[in-house]
Amino acid sequence: MTVDRPIRTARELAVAGLIDTTAEEAVSRVASRYAVAITPAVADLIDRDDPNDPIARQFVPDPAELTFSPEERSDPIGDGEHSPVTGIVHRYPDRVLLKAVHVCPVYCRFCFRREMVGPQGLGTLTAAELDAAIGYIAGHRQIWEVILTGGDPLVLSPRRLAEMLGRLRAIEHVKVVRFHTRVPVVEAERIDADLIAALKASGKATYVALHANHPRELSAEARAAAARLIDAGIVMVSQTVLLKGVNDDPDVLAELMRGFVETRIKPYYLHHPDLAPGTGHFRLSIEEGQALAESLRGRVSGLCQPTYILDIPGGHGKAVVSANAISSGGCGSYTITDFRGNAHSYPPKG
Ligand SMILES: *Cc1c(COP(=O)(O)O)cnc(C)c1O
Ligand code: SF4
Repeated sequence: MTVDRPIRTARELAVAGLIDTTAEEAVSRVASRYAVAITPAVADLIDRDDPNDPIARQFVPDPAELTFSPEERSDPIGDGEHSPVTGIVHRYPDRVLLKAVHVCPVYCRFCFRREMVGPQGLGTLTAAELDAAIGYIAGHRQIWEVILTGGDPLVLSPRRLAEMLGRLRAIEHVKVVRFHTRVPVVEAERIDADLIAALKASGKATYVALHANHPRELSAEARAAAARLIDAGIVMVSQTVLLKGVNDDPDVLAELMRGFVETRIKPYYLHHPDLAPGTGHFRLSIEEGQALAESLRGRVSGLCQPTYILDIPGGHGKAVVSANAISSGGCGSYTITDFRGNAHSYPPKG
Protein backbone atom coordinates (compact mmCIF):
# COMPACT_ATOMS: atom_id res chain seq x y z
CA MET A 1 0.00 0.00 0.00
CA THR A 2 1.33 3.43 -0.96
CA VAL A 3 1.15 6.31 1.52
CA ASP A 4 1.16 9.96 0.54
CA ARG A 5 2.54 11.56 3.68
CA PRO A 6 5.01 10.59 6.42
CA ILE A 7 3.94 7.88 8.87
CA ARG A 8 4.41 9.04 12.48
CA THR A 9 2.29 6.93 14.84
CA ALA A 10 1.68 3.29 15.73
CA ARG A 11 -1.83 3.59 14.30
CA GLU A 12 -0.50 4.86 10.97
CA LEU A 13 2.10 2.09 10.93
CA ALA A 14 -0.69 -0.48 11.40
CA VAL A 15 -2.89 1.11 8.74
CA ALA A 16 0.04 1.09 6.31
CA GLY A 17 0.59 -2.62 7.01
CA LEU A 18 4.03 -2.04 8.52
CA ILE A 19 3.17 -3.52 11.93
CA ASP A 20 0.60 -6.02 13.10
CA THR A 21 -2.39 -4.49 14.91
CA THR A 22 -1.53 -6.72 17.90
CA ALA A 23 1.83 -4.89 18.15
CA GLU A 24 0.27 -1.44 18.13
CA GLU A 25 0.29 -0.86 21.87
CA ALA A 26 3.92 -1.94 22.35
CA VAL A 27 5.04 0.14 19.36
CA SER A 28 3.08 3.09 20.68
CA ARG A 29 5.15 2.96 23.91
CA VAL A 30 8.35 3.08 21.86
CA ALA A 31 7.00 5.96 19.76
CA SER A 32 6.26 8.02 22.83
CA ARG A 33 9.94 7.68 23.85
CA TYR A 34 11.73 7.94 20.49
CA ALA A 35 10.45 9.87 17.47
CA VAL A 36 9.03 8.00 14.49
CA ALA A 37 8.84 9.13 10.87
CA ILE A 38 8.80 7.12 7.66
CA THR A 39 8.52 9.01 4.38
CA PRO A 40 6.41 7.65 1.51
CA ALA A 41 9.59 6.82 -0.44
CA VAL A 42 10.90 4.71 2.44
CA ALA A 43 7.52 3.03 3.02
CA ASP A 44 7.60 2.05 -0.66
CA LEU A 45 11.00 0.39 -0.25
CA ILE A 46 9.73 -1.93 2.49
CA ASP A 47 8.74 -5.47 1.58
CA ARG A 48 5.72 -6.14 3.86
CA ASP A 49 6.02 -9.88 3.25
CA ASP A 50 9.53 -10.07 4.66
CA PRO A 51 9.49 -10.12 8.48
CA ASN A 52 13.24 -9.35 8.41
CA ASP A 53 13.14 -6.58 5.84
CA PRO A 54 16.36 -4.54 6.20
CA ILE A 55 14.63 -1.24 5.43
CA ALA A 56 11.80 -1.85 7.92
CA ARG A 57 14.38 -2.78 10.53
CA GLN A 58 15.98 0.66 10.23
CA PHE A 59 12.78 2.70 10.53
CA VAL A 60 9.88 0.72 12.02
CA PRO A 61 9.97 0.93 15.85
CA ASP A 62 10.69 -2.30 17.71
CA PRO A 63 9.71 -2.97 21.35
CA ALA A 64 13.37 -4.03 21.86
CA GLU A 65 14.20 -0.30 21.87
CA LEU A 66 12.95 -0.11 25.44
CA THR A 67 15.52 -2.65 26.62
CA PHE A 68 18.48 -0.67 27.91
CA SER A 69 21.91 -1.88 28.97
CA PRO A 70 24.42 -0.29 31.33
CA GLU A 71 27.08 0.44 28.72
CA GLU A 72 24.66 2.60 26.71
CA ARG A 73 24.79 6.39 26.97
CA SER A 74 22.30 9.11 26.16
CA ASP A 75 25.11 11.10 24.46
CA PRO A 76 27.22 8.21 23.13
CA ILE A 77 29.79 10.28 21.25
CA GLY A 78 30.05 13.05 23.84
CA ASP A 79 28.73 16.01 21.84
CA GLY A 80 27.81 17.82 25.05
CA GLU A 81 31.40 17.80 26.33
CA HIS A 82 32.68 19.73 23.30
CA SER A 83 29.96 22.30 22.77
CA PRO A 84 31.31 25.81 23.43
CA VAL A 85 28.06 27.49 22.32
CA THR A 86 24.62 26.04 21.56
CA GLY A 87 24.58 24.35 18.15
CA ILE A 88 28.37 24.03 17.80
CA VAL A 89 30.43 20.91 18.55
CA HIS A 90 34.16 21.64 18.35
CA ARG A 91 36.09 18.46 18.95
CA TYR A 92 38.81 18.64 16.29
CA PRO A 93 40.87 21.80 15.82
CA ASP A 94 40.11 22.46 12.14
CA ARG A 95 36.40 21.66 11.92
CA VAL A 96 33.12 22.12 13.77
CA LEU A 97 29.68 20.64 13.64
CA LEU A 98 26.90 23.20 13.21
CA LYS A 99 23.67 21.63 14.41
CA ALA A 100 21.02 24.08 13.32
CA VAL A 101 18.07 21.70 13.46
CA HIS A 102 17.18 18.52 15.34
CA VAL A 103 14.43 17.32 13.04
CA CYS A 104 14.81 14.55 10.44
CA PRO A 105 12.54 13.41 7.59
CA VAL A 106 12.90 9.85 8.92
CA TYR A 107 13.98 8.66 12.35
CA CYS A 108 16.48 5.82 12.36
CA ARG A 109 15.86 3.36 15.16
CA PHE A 110 19.61 3.13 15.89
CA CYS A 111 20.26 6.90 15.85
CA PHE A 112 23.25 7.93 17.99
CA ARG A 113 21.55 11.26 18.72
CA ARG A 114 18.14 9.71 19.44
CA GLU A 115 17.84 11.54 22.75
CA MET A 116 18.35 14.90 20.99
CA VAL A 117 16.35 14.61 17.75
CA GLY A 118 12.63 14.62 17.05
CA PRO A 119 9.71 16.84 18.05
CA GLN A 120 10.75 16.55 21.73
CA GLY A 121 14.42 17.03 20.90
CA LEU A 122 16.69 20.06 20.99
CA GLY A 123 14.66 21.92 18.36
CA THR A 124 15.98 24.49 15.92
CA LEU A 125 18.47 27.24 16.76
CA THR A 126 16.89 30.57 17.55
CA ALA A 127 18.08 33.65 15.65
CA ALA A 128 20.22 34.67 18.63
CA GLU A 129 21.71 31.17 18.98
CA LEU A 130 22.52 31.09 15.28
CA ASP A 131 24.20 34.50 15.57
CA ALA A 132 26.34 33.19 18.42
CA ALA A 133 27.22 30.00 16.51
CA ILE A 134 28.26 31.93 13.40
CA GLY A 135 30.14 34.35 15.65
CA TYR A 136 32.04 31.44 17.17
CA ILE A 137 33.06 30.19 13.71
CA ALA A 138 34.09 33.70 12.64
CA GLY A 139 36.12 34.14 15.81
CA HIS A 140 38.17 30.95 15.47
CA ARG A 141 40.59 31.15 12.59
CA GLN A 142 41.57 27.49 12.82
CA ILE A 143 38.07 26.44 11.65
CA TRP A 144 38.66 25.36 8.07
CA GLU A 145 35.50 23.26 7.64
CA VAL A 146 31.90 23.63 8.84
CA ILE A 147 29.84 20.42 8.96
CA LEU A 148 26.08 20.91 8.99
CA THR A 149 24.40 18.04 10.73
CA GLY A 150 21.68 17.65 13.29
CA GLY A 151 19.10 16.37 12.75
CA ASP A 152 19.09 16.61 9.00
CA PRO A 153 20.02 20.08 7.72
CA LEU A 154 18.31 19.45 4.38
CA VAL A 155 14.87 19.65 6.02
CA LEU A 156 15.40 23.42 6.27
CA SER A 157 13.79 25.50 3.55
CA PRO A 158 16.10 26.64 0.74
CA ARG A 159 15.49 30.21 1.90
CA ARG A 160 16.70 29.52 5.44
CA LEU A 161 19.65 27.45 4.26
CA ALA A 162 20.72 30.13 1.80
CA GLU A 163 20.47 32.78 4.49
CA MET A 164 22.56 30.75 6.93
CA LEU A 165 25.18 29.69 4.38
CA GLY A 166 25.40 33.19 2.97
CA ARG A 167 26.77 34.22 6.34
CA LEU A 168 29.58 31.67 6.06
CA ARG A 169 30.57 33.19 2.72
CA ALA A 170 32.02 36.21 4.50
CA ILE A 171 34.23 34.09 6.78
CA GLU A 172 37.54 33.94 4.94
CA HIS A 173 39.16 31.08 6.91
CA VAL A 174 36.27 28.65 6.25
CA LYS A 175 37.10 26.85 3.01
CA VAL A 176 34.82 23.81 3.07
CA VAL A 177 31.15 23.25 3.95
CA ARG A 178 29.86 19.71 4.42
CA PHE A 179 26.29 18.49 4.92
CA HIS A 180 25.35 15.16 6.48
CA THR A 181 21.96 14.02 5.24
CA ARG A 182 19.59 11.22 4.34
CA VAL A 183 17.32 13.40 2.19
CA PRO A 184 18.53 12.28 -1.28
CA VAL A 185 17.36 8.75 -0.35
CA VAL A 186 14.32 9.34 1.84
CA GLU A 187 12.81 12.44 0.22
CA ALA A 188 14.59 12.76 -3.12
CA GLU A 189 12.07 15.27 -4.48
CA ARG A 190 13.44 17.89 -2.09
CA ILE A 191 16.67 17.98 -4.09
CA ASP A 192 15.55 20.58 -6.60
CA ALA A 193 17.24 23.60 -8.17
CA ASP A 194 16.36 25.90 -5.24
CA LEU A 195 17.77 23.56 -2.63
CA ILE A 196 20.94 22.94 -4.65
CA ALA A 197 21.47 26.68 -5.08
CA ALA A 198 21.01 27.11 -1.32
CA LEU A 199 23.55 24.38 -0.50
CA LYS A 200 26.09 26.23 -2.63
CA ALA A 201 25.29 29.66 -1.18
CA SER A 202 28.45 29.72 0.96
CA GLY A 203 30.62 29.83 -2.16
CA LYS A 204 32.95 27.32 -0.45
CA ALA A 205 33.87 23.84 -1.65
CA THR A 206 30.61 21.99 -0.90
CA TYR A 207 30.41 18.34 0.12
CA VAL A 208 27.36 16.21 0.86
CA ALA A 209 27.80 13.04 2.92
CA LEU A 210 24.91 10.68 2.25
CA HIS A 211 23.86 8.29 5.02
CA ALA A 212 22.61 4.99 3.54
CA ASN A 213 22.92 1.47 4.91
CA HIS A 214 21.38 -0.94 2.43
CA PRO A 215 21.71 -1.18 -1.37
CA ARG A 216 17.92 -0.98 -1.82
CA GLU A 217 18.07 2.59 -0.49
CA LEU A 218 19.91 3.56 -3.68
CA SER A 219 16.70 3.57 -5.73
CA ALA A 220 16.46 5.16 -9.17
CA GLU A 221 15.02 8.31 -7.53
CA ALA A 222 17.88 8.46 -5.00
CA ARG A 223 20.50 8.00 -7.72
CA ALA A 224 18.89 10.74 -9.81
CA ALA A 225 18.86 13.11 -6.82
CA ALA A 226 22.55 12.42 -6.17
CA ALA A 227 23.29 13.04 -9.85
CA ARG A 228 21.58 16.45 -9.63
CA LEU A 229 23.81 17.40 -6.70
CA ILE A 230 26.98 16.09 -8.29
CA ASP A 231 26.26 17.62 -11.69
CA ALA A 232 25.89 20.95 -9.90
CA GLY A 233 29.48 20.65 -8.68
CA ILE A 234 28.89 19.22 -5.21
CA VAL A 235 31.16 16.36 -4.14
CA MET A 236 29.42 13.40 -2.51
CA VAL A 237 30.75 10.86 -0.03
CA SER A 238 28.94 8.13 1.86
CA GLN A 239 28.51 7.12 5.44
CA THR A 240 27.10 3.77 6.52
CA VAL A 241 26.42 2.35 9.96
CA LEU A 242 27.11 -1.36 10.36
CA LEU A 243 23.88 -2.84 11.69
CA LYS A 244 22.96 -6.37 12.64
CA GLY A 245 20.12 -7.62 10.44
CA VAL A 246 20.57 -4.78 7.94
CA ASN A 247 24.00 -4.94 6.35
CA ASP A 248 26.08 -7.42 8.39
CA ASP A 249 26.68 -9.48 5.29
CA PRO A 250 29.66 -9.27 2.91
CA ASP A 251 27.49 -9.41 -0.23
CA VAL A 252 25.09 -6.71 0.99
CA LEU A 253 27.97 -4.43 1.96
CA ALA A 254 29.73 -5.00 -1.37
CA GLU A 255 26.54 -4.21 -3.29
CA LEU A 256 26.01 -1.06 -1.22
CA MET A 257 29.56 0.21 -1.74
CA ARG A 258 29.38 -0.56 -5.45
CA GLY A 259 26.04 1.23 -5.60
CA PHE A 260 27.64 4.35 -4.12
CA VAL A 261 30.53 4.27 -6.58
CA GLU A 262 28.18 3.70 -9.54
CA THR A 263 26.32 6.80 -8.34
CA ARG A 264 29.65 8.75 -8.16
CA ILE A 265 29.49 8.81 -4.37
CA LYS A 266 32.86 7.96 -2.83
CA PRO A 267 32.54 5.56 0.15
CA TYR A 268 33.88 7.43 3.15
CA TYR A 269 33.02 5.94 6.53
CA LEU A 270 31.70 2.62 7.75
CA HIS A 271 30.70 3.30 11.36
CA HIS A 272 30.71 0.77 14.13
CA PRO A 273 27.29 1.21 15.81
CA ASP A 274 27.36 3.65 18.73
CA LEU A 275 26.23 2.79 22.26
CA ALA A 276 22.91 4.62 21.88
CA PRO A 277 20.14 3.69 24.34
CA GLY A 278 17.95 0.75 23.36
CA THR A 279 19.97 -0.22 20.29
CA GLY A 280 21.52 -3.47 21.52
CA HIS A 281 19.62 -5.49 18.91
CA PHE A 282 21.58 -3.65 16.18
CA ARG A 283 25.06 -4.02 17.61
CA LEU A 284 27.73 -6.46 16.53
CA SER A 285 31.18 -7.11 17.96
CA ILE A 286 34.35 -5.33 16.84
CA GLU A 287 35.63 -8.67 15.49
CA GLU A 288 32.49 -9.11 13.38
CA GLY A 289 32.84 -5.55 12.12
CA GLN A 290 36.49 -6.03 11.25
CA ALA A 291 35.73 -9.24 9.37
CA LEU A 292 33.00 -7.44 7.38
CA ALA A 293 35.22 -4.45 6.57
CA GLU A 294 38.00 -6.87 5.61
CA SER A 295 35.61 -8.84 3.35
CA LEU A 296 35.56 -5.87 0.97
CA ARG A 297 39.33 -5.64 0.66
CA GLY A 298 40.62 -7.06 -2.64
CA ARG A 299 37.22 -8.52 -3.53
CA VAL A 300 35.74 -5.19 -4.65
CA SER A 301 37.37 -2.18 -6.29
CA GLY A 302 39.59 0.08 -4.23
CA LEU A 303 37.11 2.86 -4.98
CA CYS A 304 34.52 0.89 -2.95
CA GLN A 305 36.55 0.80 0.30
CA PRO A 306 35.22 2.88 3.20
CA THR A 307 37.26 3.44 6.35
CA TYR A 308 35.91 1.39 9.25
CA ILE A 309 35.75 3.63 12.32
CA LEU A 310 34.20 3.99 15.73
CA ASP A 311 33.46 7.05 17.78
CA ILE A 312 35.16 6.60 21.13
CA PRO A 313 32.51 6.95 23.87
CA GLY A 314 32.92 10.10 25.92
CA GLY A 315 33.77 12.50 23.09
CA HIS A 316 37.32 11.40 22.29
CA GLY A 317 36.64 11.40 18.55
CA LYS A 318 36.78 8.81 15.80
CA ALA A 319 39.32 6.02 15.61
CA VAL A 320 40.08 3.61 12.77
CA VAL A 321 39.27 0.05 13.82
CA SER A 322 40.16 -1.89 10.66
CA ALA A 323 42.06 -5.08 11.40
CA ASN A 324 45.75 -4.40 11.08
CA ALA A 325 47.12 -6.13 7.98
CA ILE A 326 50.72 -5.69 9.10
CA SER A 327 52.40 -6.95 12.25
CA SER A 328 55.88 -7.38 13.56
CA GLY A 329 57.41 -10.65 12.32
CA GLY A 330 60.49 -10.63 14.58
CA CYS A 331 64.12 -9.57 13.82
CA GLY A 332 62.78 -6.20 12.63
CA SER A 333 60.82 -7.72 9.75
CA TYR A 334 57.06 -7.58 9.22
CA THR A 335 54.32 -10.04 8.46
CA ILE A 336 51.76 -8.72 6.03
CA THR A 337 48.46 -10.40 5.21
CA ASP A 338 46.92 -10.34 1.73
CA PHE A 339 43.21 -10.20 0.98
CA ARG A 340 42.98 -14.00 0.87
CA GLY A 341 44.29 -14.18 4.43
CA ASN A 342 47.76 -15.50 3.47
CA ALA A 343 50.73 -14.12 5.40
CA HIS A 344 53.90 -12.86 3.69
CA SER A 345 57.07 -11.47 5.16
CA TYR A 346 58.25 -7.96 4.38
CA PRO A 347 61.86 -6.93 5.06
CA PRO A 348 62.96 -4.35 7.63
CA LYS A 349 64.45 -1.13 6.28
CA GLY A 350 68.06 -1.47 5.12
C1 LIG B 1 32.55 13.10 13.25
C2 LIG B 1 32.84 14.46 13.62
C3 LIG B 1 33.48 15.33 12.73
C4 LIG B 1 33.85 14.93 11.33
O1 LIG B 1 34.94 14.06 11.35
P1 LIG B 1 35.63 13.67 9.98
O2 LIG B 1 36.61 12.61 10.38
O3 LIG B 1 36.26 14.91 9.44
O4 LIG B 1 34.56 13.17 9.05
C5 LIG B 1 33.76 16.59 13.14
N1 LIG B 1 33.44 17.02 14.37
C6 LIG B 1 32.85 16.21 15.26
C7 LIG B 1 32.51 16.74 16.61
C8 LIG B 1 32.50 14.90 14.91
O5 LIG B 1 31.88 14.11 15.79
S1 SF4 C 1 18.89 10.84 9.94
FE1 SF4 C 1 20.74 10.90 11.25
S2 SF4 C 1 20.19 12.25 12.97
FE2 SF4 C 1 18.27 11.69 11.93
S3 SF4 C 1 17.51 9.87 13.02
FE3 SF4 C 1 18.75 9.10 11.33
S4 SF4 C 1 20.82 8.83 12.20
FE4 SF4 C 1 19.65 10.18 13.60
